[in-house]
Amino acid sequence: MSLLLRFAKQWIAGETAESGISRVKEENSRGILGLLNLLGENIESRDQVEATVKEYLHLLDLIDQDQVKSQISVKPTQLGLKFDFDYCLSNYMKIVVACKSHNENYLWVDMEDSPFTERTIELYVKLLSSYSKTGIAIQSYLKRSENDVKKLLPLGAKIRLVKGAYNEDPSIAFKSKQQVTENYGKLLTFLFTESNSENFTAVATHDSKMIELSKLLSKQNPNTRHEYEMLMGVRDNLKLDLIRESRQVREYVPYGPQWLAYSIRRIKEKKSNIFLLGRSLFSQ
Ligand SMILES: Cc1cc2nc3c(=O)[nH]c(=O)nc-3n(C[C@H](O)[C@H](O)[C@H](O)COP(=O)(O)OP(=O)(O)OC[C@H]3O[C@@H](n4cnc5c(N)ncnc54)[C@H](O)[C@@H]3O)c2cc1C
Repeated sequence: MSLLLRFAKQWIAGETAESGISRVKEENSRGILGLLNLLGENIESRDQVEATVKEYLHLLDLIDQDQVKSQISVKPTQLGLKFDFDYCLSNYMKIVVACKSHNENYLWVDMEDSPFTERTIELYVKLLSSYSKTGIAIQSYLKRSENDVKKLLPLGAKIRLVKGAYNEDPSIAFKSKQQVTENYGKLLTFLFTESNSENFTAVATHDSKMIELSKLLSKQNPNTRHEYEMLMGVRDNLKLDLIRESRQVREYVPYGPQWLAYSIRRIKEKKSNIFLLGRSLFSQ
């Protein structure tokens, strides 16, 4: 397991909040902002959920104390969405209260697999109505996302557009890379052309074509507020290229003992990662 952890450390900061903060500090020194996430999902016990809330409150304290430039991103099933919607909402609200009192920091809601999509959007609409500095991830591989974006934008939503990281059924999701990317381009164009001053778009992709498209769209729609978001350990040179062009870039920095599921998703995203994993395990 420790060999696997060593391999996974290209995508995760470490197991503690302090390791996350220290990664963000490094990135801040390069001009890149942070987006911290405590790893973990599908939590089924209230004790564990409460420990998770406590950890996020601690993280917000650390962000302030160490004066790092970072927001936080939280998965709904970390806060109880799997078993109780109202309980999950009340946990997010505790974090909202803390965000407000920590320099009005932003709170992002990650999007998980499709059994949670509808409830996550419902949850987000409620959060947004009580705190405008909340954002949500929307996945371009889901066929429903066009309608979701059209519904959310007029409410003042802040949207992080991603392609989507889970294995979904073809009845609800585009399956080919080309279709997913095409839909990403379509949704991105919609976000750039239809956003108003309340909205915010996070272009969360490592796909150079989509990043080029967003540059064109931002030229044509100079008032659309946006930034680029990428994962820790992926396309670091591209992040720096964007910084050199004076664009706002944020890195998603996950940390925590529950690093396995997240790391497996990253490994699967790129064939060469599977090869590198094999090589690193067998060359020890
Ligand atoms: C800030 C941020 C937040 C996210 N939040 C969510 C979320 O809430 N819910 C969700 O479902 N998904 C989320 N994702 C993950 C996302 O859905 C994709 O799985 C992931 O970003 C890969 O898709 P891509 O857009 O980079 O395009 P791809 O077509 O997968 O990749 C484009 C290029 O990027 C490079 N690349 C991509 N991934 C890797 C990798 N792992 N290792 C090395 N190179 C790689 C390759 O050069 C590849 O050709 C998030 C992604 C980001 C950047």
